[in-house]
Amino acid sequence: MQRDEQIFELIQAEKERQLHGIELIASENFVSDQVMEAAGSVLTNKYAEGYPGKRYYGGCEVVDEVEQIAIDRAKALFGAAYVNVQPHSGSQANTAVYHACLKPGDKILGFDLSHGGHLTHGSPVNFSGKLYNPVFYGVEQETGVLNYDKIQEIATKEQPKLIIAGASAYSRDIDFKRFREIADSVGAILMADISHPAGLIAKGILNDPIPHCHIVTTTTHKTLRGPRGGMIMMGEDFDNPFGITLKSGKLRKMSSLLDSAVFPGNQGGPLEHIIAAKAIAFGEALSDDFLEYQLQVKHNAAAMAKALVAKDYNIISGGTDNHCMLIDLRNKDISGKEAEEALVKADITVNKNMVPFDDKSPFVTSGIRLGVAAVTTRGLKEADMDAIVTLIDEVITNHDNEVALGAVREKVNAMMQGKPLFA
Ligand code: PLP
Repeated sequence: MQRDEQIFELIQAEKERQLHGIELIASENFVSDQVMEAAGSVLTNKYAEGYPGKRYYGGCEVVDEVEQIAIDRAKALFGAAYVNVQPHSGSQANTAVYHACLKPGDKILGFDLSHGGHLTHGSPVNFSGKLYNPVFYGVEQETGVLNYDKIQEIATKEQPKLIIAGASAYSRDIDFKRFREIADSVGAILMADISHPAGLIAKGILNDPIPHCHIVTTTTHKTLRGPRGGMIMMGEDFDNPFGITLKSGKLRKMSSLLDSAVFPGNQGGPLEHIIAAKAIAFGEALSDDFLEYQLQVKHNAAAMAKALVAKDYNIISGGTDNHCMLIDLRNKDISGKEAEEALVKADITVNKNMVPFDDKSPFVTSGIRLGVAAVTTRGLKEADMDAIVTLIDEVITNHDNEVALGAVREKVNAMMQGKPLFA
């Protein structure tokens, strides 16, 4: 077979883009060489429906070991008693949990997408809002933070079957203990979706959901710095509260319902090459280096937020506890869409984002979301965050001046020169 130069040239172009630019998309990161190597390995050739030791295909002895190592490392990393590493993505992980815990039409309570939640937390354009009956909590207009008393009021009024704690664009730590009290008061299952701050949580820098939430889902590719994928965890297993029994009449364990919901409920063969890459990433995350990295992520985000506030940028909630922040650009007279486009021209990658109480559509938006996990992987420190904010401000101020944007792009490329990505 001839090498497919068309695609490999595009892959090279994407590598150059990643190398030369400042990556501030809060949900992205750069994996290590060994994670990359596993993701591109021969394990992609293997079918392995089922779970280690209980497969529907022969020849699974090797991938059984790989998957078990991934599970064991994830358990050690998060202090979980149960882990399923097979979900192909964060959305698939959430789908499986809903499938295990809900019937179509059941009520779910999630974080409003336009206030920082995720599509899979009940958005009407997503299966979660079409198949189930979603109600939402949001942030306070004045403070930009969650008001737990109000969440309690909504839960008491709406009596949801499942409550989702977690977000895609919320820069404050989440009180999972309080969420559990709310869930218990209405007999709801509490699911935390820690896709964004998983790496910080794994190293004890943010509140730990594992002791408080019935079920925890995450992606593996954001602050956790693994391959693109998802995962489901529980701090402890428990009898399912839905009355689902085995033939013997005994209640099925929640772990069994979750495993069945992933496979065969929602997926076929697991991506064992990605599971191997997850295992390597979890191994890396167990190291002291990863604690250093996460502490630097937190320091960098705080430095970036401080520098933005000093330049009169309106950060929702006024700052950040984690790796990300959401900026309301309405006082800068530029939409999120315009800002994203201008920043991309200067090789600074961000995404436009709705802000709470936004008056613009999701295609335009009033805000942008920034995160520092990726630039921290490339070795940038607090002083670099000040420099990046100066560059961002130059772009926002001159967003329709192509010459000025070109000048910023040169500074961006010079800044990232020599900063390692992967081999
Ligand atoms: N949950 C949250 C909170 C997220 O932020 C995301 C992705 O951004 C997901 C779930 C979905 O992950 P994926 O894109 O892997 O489906």
